[in-house]
Amino acid sequence: MPEMESVETVGATSRGSKLSKFTIQRNTCGPDDVTIDIKYCGICHTDVHFARDPLPMPVPFPLVPGHEVAGVVSKVGKNVKDIKVGDYAGVGCFVDSCFECRPCKTGDENGCDKMATFTFGGQCATHGRIATDSGHTQGGYSKRMTVHRHFAIQIPKTYSLQAAGPIFCSGITMYTPLKQWGALKGGMNVGVVGIGGLGQMGIMLAAAMGNTVTAISRNTTKKEAALKIGAKSFIVSKDEEQMKSATRSLDLILNTVSANHQLSTYLPLLAFKGRIVQIGLTTEPHQVAQVPMIMGMTTITGTAAGGLADTQECMDFCAKNNIVPETELVDWTKIDDVYDELNKGSDKVVRYVLDCDKGF
Ligand SMILES: [Zn+2]
Ligand SMILES: [Zn+2]
Repeated sequence: MPEMESVETVGATSRGSKLSKFTIQRNTCGPDDVTIDIKYCGICHTDVHFARDPLPMPVPFPLVPGHEVAGVVSKVGKNVKDIKVGDYAGVGCFVDSCFECRPCKTGDENGCDKMATFTFGGQCATHGRIATDSGHTQGGYSKRMTVHRHFAIQIPKTYSLQAAGPIFCSGITMYTPLKQWGALKGGMNVGVVGIGGLGQMGIMLAAAMGNTVTAISRNTTKKEAALKIGAKSFIVSKDEEQMKSATRSLDLILNTVSANHQLSTYLPLLAFKGRIVQIGLTTEPHQVAQVPMIMGMTTITGTAAGGLADTQECMDFCAKNNIVPETELVDWTKIDDVYDELNKGSDKVVRYVLDCDKGF
């Protein structure tokens, strides 16, 4: 068992409980580790699901959510040469993986064959580089976190610490498919379906890479926002005429819709050899007609989060291109209200960020 220290946190003591303050024990800084004094932590819908909803897998409590961590490095282990005390650094969705399987060796830790350890609610013992008194990982609604250097992301000093957390979640989730399917070098027609936290990042990243971006949404409420952050055009998916006029126009569609829907709505928008990437979590199966797929040589694929090297690349890309998610600071007593708002499906184009610096 590594050495532990007490850390103040905010979390749920049982499923659905109001969030409250409590102290946990976390591992201290070992030779390969980095300790981050957390200043901010983005509040993500995934946090709400874990803290409140019945999920298909068991969720351990007490649970400290938060996987969009940004702060200042306060300790580094003796083997860590490229991060120093005082640097800005963050932690995203994962805090451990096996380091040995093919996905891990090729920088796709998110796809670890033995399952990467999620930043909260994951089992510490699986890979053994992180420890807490409860045996499961505890997230970023917290004053401090120590992770293996591999899972720390460097944040350029020029970048807003408050805005950095969402880059490690929605940012990398959109960056990964853009890079994987050739949009990094620009020149593609990219569609982004759903203009929530993911969609906004998708629009900003795809546009900054030099692609022509079409935003697609159920109604026009987010039209102005989408055009302002880089979309060239906007399609209302419920408007048959608009959808029809965009037939075969998109090389790559990033579909962030997380409500159950049918892929057949968007498939006609794909250009020849076009590709649609499913990103939102839905549970109902899709019905797909095969003939248009054969004739159009189209591809249906999916993606979730991303590897650590790509996350760093995404962070650096955002800093270089001045891509800064819109954020709003909240203190810990407001988290329950934010959760309620996220569950209702917020119309606001903003990411709420927990002010950990202020204290709990
Ligand atoms: Zn997230
Ligand atoms: Zn692995």
